[in-house]
Amino acid sequence: MDTPRRLLSRLRELMARGPAPLPELVRVVSAELVADVCSVYAMQPGEILELAATQGLRPDAVGRTRLRVGEGIVGLCAASAEVLNLPDAQNHPAFAYRPETGEEPYASLLAVPVRRAGRTLGVLAVQSRDPRLYADDEVEVLETVAMLLAEVLPALGALGGSAEGVGGMVPRTFAGTPLVGGIAVGPIVLRRARLGARRMLAEDVAAEQARLDEAAARMQREIDALVSARLPGDEHGADAAASREVLAAYRLVAADTGWLTRVAEVIRGGLSAEAAVQRVMNDLRDRMRRFADPYLRERLADLEDVANGLLRALEGEAAMPVDARGAILLARRLGPAELLDWHARGIAGLIVEEASPSGHAAILARALGLPALGGVRGLLDAAEPGDEVVLDADEKHAILRPLADVRQVYRHALEARAAREAGFAALRDRPSETADGTPMTLMLNVGLRLELDQLDRTGAAGIGLFRTEIAMLARGSVADVAEQAAIYASVLDAAAGRPVLFRTLDLGSDKMLPGEAPPEEENPAMGWRSLRVALDRPILLRRQLRALLLAAGGRDLSVMFPMVATVAEFRAARDLLRAEAKRVRPAPARIAVGAMLEVPALLWQLPELLRETDFVSVGSNDLMQFAFAADRGTPALAARYDLLSAPALDMLEHIVREADAAGVSLSLCGEAASRPLEAMALAGIGFRSLSMTAPGIMPVKAMLAALDLRAFRPVLASIRRGGAGDASLREALSTWAREAGLPV
Ligand code: PEP
Ligand code: MG
Repeated sequence: MDTPRRLLSRLRELMARGPAPLPELVRVVSAELVADVCSVYAMQPGEILELAATQGLRPDAVGRTRLRVGEGIVGLCAASAEVLNLPDAQNHPAFAYRPETGEEPYASLLAVPVRRAGRTLGVLAVQSRDPRLYADDEVEVLETVAMLLAEVLPALGALGGSAEGVGGMVPRTFAGTPLVGGIAVGPIVLRRARLGARRMLAEDVAAEQARLDEAAARMQREIDALVSARLPGDEHGADAAASREVLAAYRLVAADTGWLTRVAEVIRGGLSAEAAVQRVMNDLRDRMRRFADPYLRERLADLEDVANGLLRALEGEAAMPVDARGAILLARRLGPAELLDWHARGIAGLIVEEASPSGHAAILARALGLPALGGVRGLLDAAEPGDEVVLDADEKHAILRPLADVRQVYRHALEARAAREAGFAALRDRPSETADGTPMTLMLNVGLRLELDQLDRTGAAGIGLFRTEIAMLARGSVADVAEQAAIYASVLDAAAGRPVLFRTLDLGSDKMLPGEAPPEEENPAMGWRSLRVALDRPILLRRQLRALLLAAGGRDLSVMFPMVATVAEFRAARDLLRAEAKRVRPAPARIAVGAMLEVPALLWQLPELLRETDFVSVGSNDLMQFAFAADRGTPALAARYDLLSAPALDMLEHIVREADAAGVSLSLCGEAASRPLEAMALAGIGFRSLSMTAPGIMPVKAMLAALDLRAFRPVLASIRRGGAGDASLREALSTWAREAGLPV
């Protein structure tokens, strides 16, 4: 038997007798690895690593030798959570000499972090006299021993007090990026149950391989069942269809055999099937952590999702709490299928350490209406299952173990929200108009069929922006004509006669499809993207237009083009639509063609443009970024330039005047439309149609119902005059709104 196998086999015997005492464990490791020293350092409160057991160093150093995290090689290993393999440790800049250990004779050192659920619990180190670099299989087996130790250390009480690692019981606040706005308070559930040390090692390789194969097959069946259970046509048809788009991408990853082969290799090394899956995922995660590439990171999230499905299949359903009602799910990453599963178990919110607002999980969480916070570093290291947490996506933070009065404040805030929502429900069926009777059309921005039930929930007048690329991003590629047509048809079905403005694919810049190599551009937002690509490579656009025409199947169809910079571009796109329309039967009853106003140059072509369009919609997100030369994705600029400023309002009012003069219907569908104060100013300068995400509809409707436009218009004019040259008119506008009793 080779050394690593023999070592694991001896450890298995040791474990069979109960949690292995550390002195015996270090003795076995040093003997089998033929290392002069093997030591375990355990984390104590205050981020101190204490020598807990050693074979080879002086026995009386146990309990005495202590290093801060970051101090010495061992401390560095804990701080970086990385393996350090050093032939000449004593000459390493981080080396810290501890005379009581008697470690002078040992030249080489291999230190491996002991980690569990994202937290560092200690360090396992071996040392030898001769200056050697440890071989890969030795490093690997030591990492396996560290995995075991991660389960053994807490069971042995080797970690000081109840602190278990770092953190203690004090409340702590963690900053994050909101993925979906909202508040939730509840106990933490962790995404993955822990695997005990005993279940990590296995003797019978063939049996473990068979378990893996069986679990992989069962998981595949479960995915198939999940997909077919969510086929359109049942009562949750719209949800089902969108889930299917995401699941299709996920299935591709599940079928990828590369990583399953690696899992099989690890099983041959002596690990149980579940430990092998965990091990391969840990390795992949560590490797991928070094990549900034968002595509790779997303793919890793999908792989983790698959791995977790496998672990569940191996461990049985008992591993996951069936009822997670009211709990907040905390995960390093989360894939879409798993999120659907947890949603069915009743979670109230989601905190993910690594997630971007454009990632799959975020898109789904938004569609499911789950408050979610991403990019929350360190929470996983500090939290235990069952710990209370406040998730406040609006304030961009999470509070772990909040004090009683903080918890109370949040409970009241949640009650107030619920009461406000009950009030909104009454508003839902009332016509949308201002207090002095000016009708206002409020529409929805959506991108997934999953979101379509919000039409009925909010009572919106229709869909003012259907971002077709979102569904394609969620499924991972652009669907073929038939599948696109099915998607668009189900949107029209759900809208049941209410208008739907389909925007053609707005890909590029921040919205890249997986596998697409982003073109090398200095400024991708102003680069070869969106309609520009569509016109230069018209096949994709023509297919999409055909799908839209087919989807209409004789009904009305409204299509708008994004990022139009010249009237000539609009004409070229419209001509493609006309050409396709000649070929599709039955033809739509009526085709309306529009342009998004997002590029400032188009504002100086309005008379020509408006002669040729049936409608226009202001994409204020892009229009603002280009007008102020301020990247919309740069947080440092987020509050610097304001739509509520004289130049922005002048620009928008100019559009209103031109559209009114031309008799062309006009809407605004940027994020600003969903904010009551902005919506108030937009109504004041003459907008009568706004399109926004679902959570904005009721607050905007409530504000409008209280707004006396006739009284407000002269006030707005005077605020604009008085604030000419100022960066923002926000203060003056909100003071007036508050005094007028508007809910802004
Ligand atoms: C906009 O730019 O305002 C807009 C609505 O489009 P998107 O946010 O999808 O770019
Ligand atoms: Mg835009």
